[in-house]
Amino acid sequence: MFDNLSDKLDKAFHILKGHGKITEVNVADTLKEVRRALLDADVNFKIAKDFTTKVKEKAIGENVLTTLQPGQLMVKLVKDELTELMGGDAAGINLSGAPTVILMSGLQGSGKTTFSGKLANFLKTKKNKKPLLVACDIYRPAAINQLHVVGGQIGVEVYSEEGNKNPVEIAQNAIKYAKANGFNVVIVDTAGRLAVDEEMMNEIANVHKAIEPHETLFVVDAMTGQDAVNTAKAFNDRLNFDGVILTKLDGDTRGGAAISIKSVVDKPIKFIGTGEKMEAIDVFYPNRMAERILG
Ligand code: GDP
Repeated sequence: MFDNLSDKLDKAFHILKGHGKITEVNVADTLKEVRRALLDADVNFKIAKDFTTKVKEKAIGENVLTTLQPGQLMVKLVKDELTELMGGDAAGINLSGAPTVILMSGLQGSGKTTFSGKLANFLKTKKNKKPLLVACDIYRPAAINQLHVVGGQIGVEVYSEEGNKNPVEIAQNAIKYAKANGFNVVIVDTAGRLAVDEEMMNEIANVHKAIEPHETLFVVDAMTGQDAVNTAKAFNDRLNFDGVILTKLDGDTRGGAAISIKSVVDKPIKFIGTGEKMEAIDVFYPNRMAERILG
């Protein structure tokens, strides 16, 4: 995960670790390399620039040049700033409500259906919940089938209505069904499209308004870099979602989405997807991710 970024940051710190006496120029060169590494990882230019400015201010504040191990202190400052940028503390998921209603949003192919299954499985096995999965993609019968397959794999019931073309109605009926049948979490999987369009946004906004979810989660493919950030912004402007799910972090992703998304939409990354299997889900801890990136 983020191997390229880790390598480049490691090289950036070589500048500091290699010198007997550290000068202001060495620190400036290191920060320049750090910025370049972030840009190469597809982090937005302004975010990368602000990042190094903040680290520089802290380095001056802590008199980095006079400390015994300036290299180590710089690594720590970068690690702290990366953690902050990615959200600081881990953000939990709101499980209030009877039942808790969770709405999944995102583009087609982002991993929404897969993640709906992973989350249901996580809540069932780790939180002792009884989840119901709801198929609200009225355009693609294959998507409904896919959710049934996923539900079958994890032993979670899937609610769908054949022939009903009204996602608001399906979601509302599913919540009624959940209440009547002892389900305490309802996970609503919605229709995505290949790109942001008005019709999809209206549809999900209508579902959102009608069911008033306790958690609205936005699912995005980490491999899409700055596009992921732009899509997040479009969905957040419309839905004011509660958290981000970053999928496909097992792939050859550069890391830009993980690093930038929080500061653009001011919403935490809550979970990450790290594979196609139902168990490939992790709670997102910004500090652990920063540690991983910096090795
Ligand atoms: P949806 O259209 O948003 O519902 O996306 P899907 O759930 O159908 O996922 C699209 C493709 O991405 C499928 O082939 C999934 O198996 C795959 N996928 C989903 N999440 C992950 C992940 O975390 N890692 C990897 N490698 N593949 C994933």
